[in-house]
Amino acid sequence: MEFLKKKIREEGIVIGEDILKVDSILNHQMDIELFMKIGEAFYERFKNANINKILTIEASGIGIAAIAATYFKVPVVFAKKSQSRILNGTTYSSEVYSFTKQQSFHIHVSDRFLSQDDQVLIIDDFLANGQAALGLIELVKAAKGSCVGVGIVIEKGFQDGGKLLRDQGIRVESLAIVDRFTNGEIRFL
Ligand code: 5GP
Repeated sequence: MEFLKKKIREEGIVIGEDILKVDSILNHQMDIELFMKIGEAFYERFKNANINKILTIEASGIGIAAIAATYFKVPVVFAKKSQSRILNGTTYSSEVYSFTKQQSFHIHVSDRFLSQDDQVLIIDDFLANGQAALGLIELVKAAKGSCVGVGIVIEKGFQDGGKLLRDQGIRVESLAIVDRFTNGEIRFL
């Protein structure tokens, strides 16, 4: 995924030891041409996995998942980070510890949008310690659906999430894996 690594090198800002800011292309402003290449890359990797739904988490996952869905031609469901009077009826919920916000929160999906018939691809922007992905997998399990894999745009290989998920037999496909940050420079695997 050279195009993605090049963009990340050009636009990425390293914050501290372990945070990458890519808000000019991914997390605030969205580079849709890049998103289309990302969506196509996920499609190439998961096109034979018979997925019928993409699940992501608000907010940054939504744009990526929506563009990817145009290749898979399946609906996207995003887990909400707060309950509201509109999200009524039965919901599946799980707890996620946020690496960037350093606090726990609950995520919710209505039981109308996840079921035992679902073969779900989970998509997210970053993989750090794997808590967001695990929380999303828990929602799929609660609905008795199957998680066929996890598609990640940027995995930070020096954090535990990738190992944690792969050790559980979960198929994780990351388009760019950061090995380390050295003096503000981004090194990929
Ligand atoms: P995890 O749950 O795997 O620990 O962290 C993944 C979630 O935290 C992602 O949904 C992403 O929004 C956020 N995140 C983790 N690390 C980074 C990072 O280095 N940069 C940004 N922008 N978000 C991150």
